[in-house]
Amino acid sequence: MADLIIVGGGLAGCEAAWQAARRGLRVTLYEMRPHTQTSVHLTGWLAEIVCSNSFGTNQRHRPSGLLKTELRSLNSFIMRCADDSSLPAGRALAVDRETFAITVTERLGNTPGVEIIRQEITAVPEGPCIVASGPLTSPALSTSISVLLGHQFLYFYDAVSPIVESGSIDMSKAFWGSRYDKGNEETEGDYLNCPLDEQEYKQFIDALVDAEKVELKPFEQPENDTPMPSANKFFEACLPIEVLAAREIQALSYGPLRPVGITDPRTGRHPFAVLQLRQDDLAKTLVNLVGFQTNLTYSEQERVFRLIPGLEQAVFVRYGQMHRNTYINAPHCLHQTGQSRQRANLFFAGQIMGSEGYAGNVASGLVAGINMSRYLKNQEFLSFPRETMIGALMHYLIYTDPENFQPMKANFGLLPVLDNPVRSKRDRGFAFSKRAIRTLSEFISETGINQYVQ
Ligand SMILES: Cc1cc2nc3c(=O)[nH]c(=O)nc-3n(C[C@H](O)[C@H](O)[C@H](O)COP(=O)(O)OP(=O)(O)OC[C@H]3O[C@@H](n4cnc5c(N)ncnc54)[C@H](O)[C@@H]3O)c2cc1C
Repeated sequence: MADLIIVGGGLAGCEAAWQAARRGLRVTLYEMRPHTQTSVHLTGWLAEIVCSNSFGTNQRHRPSGLLKTELRSLNSFIMRCADDSSLPAGRALAVDRETFAITVTERLGNTPGVEIIRQEITAVPEGPCIVASGPLTSPALSTSISVLLGHQFLYFYDAVSPIVESGSIDMSKAFWGSRYDKGNEETEGDYLNCPLDEQEYKQFIDALVDAEKVELKPFEQPENDTPMPSANKFFEACLPIEVLAAREIQALSYGPLRPVGITDPRTGRHPFAVLQLRQDDLAKTLVNLVGFQTNLTYSEQERVFRLIPGLEQAVFVRYGQMHRNTYINAPHCLHQTGQSRQRANLFFAGQIMGSEGYAGNVASGLVAGINMSRYLKNQEFLSFPRETMIGALMHYLIYTDPENFQPMKANFGLLPVLDNPVRSKRDRGFAFSKRAIRTLSEFISETGINQYVQ
């Protein structure tokens, strides 16, 4: 009899299984491959990574490098397997994907307390369970999750607008304000507005229509015969801006760039068009380009969106994208540990809870594995400090606005501002990293989080 079922043997599920087993739980991990394949996986190995073989930088003063440093301090199982399978890749952690997947499969299979069963789970199990079935969760399980959480809280496509650092926007051109001045009276308005005159608008549309796009692969196209009620609706409701712009030159000025109700305080007039950027985190360090879901390549997003006045030097912390991705509305459905608000013995981890990037998915698996074992032992949950990248990422996923929720990966905009502001981007990275590592080390000694059942 297992104490805990984990669904999905990807990065998050394997990390969660190891963390829970090392804390004395009997874990059964269900992986549907190789009997039931996804549309992109090729093997039956656990933790098969399907695209890039790079986990990103190891440099601690960069967000993804800091996250990996934190994971190593927390004895992450997946990080150890990745380090042991690494290839020469400069400052990045790249792995031999086959060696990595085989290492994870063999080591997890040999971990006391872990049983691995190759079987598709078609309904959310009733007992203690961590769902870590990833962006390509099988249709039957997706349906079961959406029945449990509510159809409106499970999504099948990422339709994500880019996010930029608000401090990188040129405020001599942009201004805070709300349509018809209906903003929060205590602030200057809820949106950062970048006004465009007619010529700037036309230049932007020309560049947008001609820009290089990412070709969607067949499995990323909307499925017309999908059994999921909200799958197509979500996709159709969010056309990429370049598709809208190609239909009719004025389309964006009546859509996401409409200027109605906005007055430029510097001219006292309505601009020809306006890009609005909405606050994306509590500290207002991040803002997203409202309604700008796109399939432009990342480099083209930087080139084209920087044509908008005020965004010339914008620092992108996340690019827009539209692709197949199953994920739940974490701020509505979950607590900070990944625990479901509806069912205390159900946790989510990995891409399905909205954490992004390989290291981000490992992190949410680690948090869920540790806290599920604490839940089952009636121990207090452990919330990672917000100054750490793990804590900041989990905090963002749960406390961001559920109305506008999009998956998120590690970035410095999620961390609380520094006590002493640092001007250079590089020095800022070092300062964030130093504070995070110190805070995590104190947290590890105070909580004894790295002590396992022998
Ligand atoms: C095509 C594609 C390319 C990507 N490229 C990148 C990239 O380059 N970099 C990056 O950081 N991220 C990338 N991602 C996102 C990537 O999926 C995650 O970063 C990471 O793999 C997610 O980890 P996970 O554990 O949440 O899910 P996964 O690694 O997908 O693991 C989930 C597992 O659950 C299994 N499963 C699903 N349903 C069931 C079921 N009902 N019963 C039992 N088992 C089930 C699956 O077979 C899978 O093994 C990509 C995703 C896709 C789809």
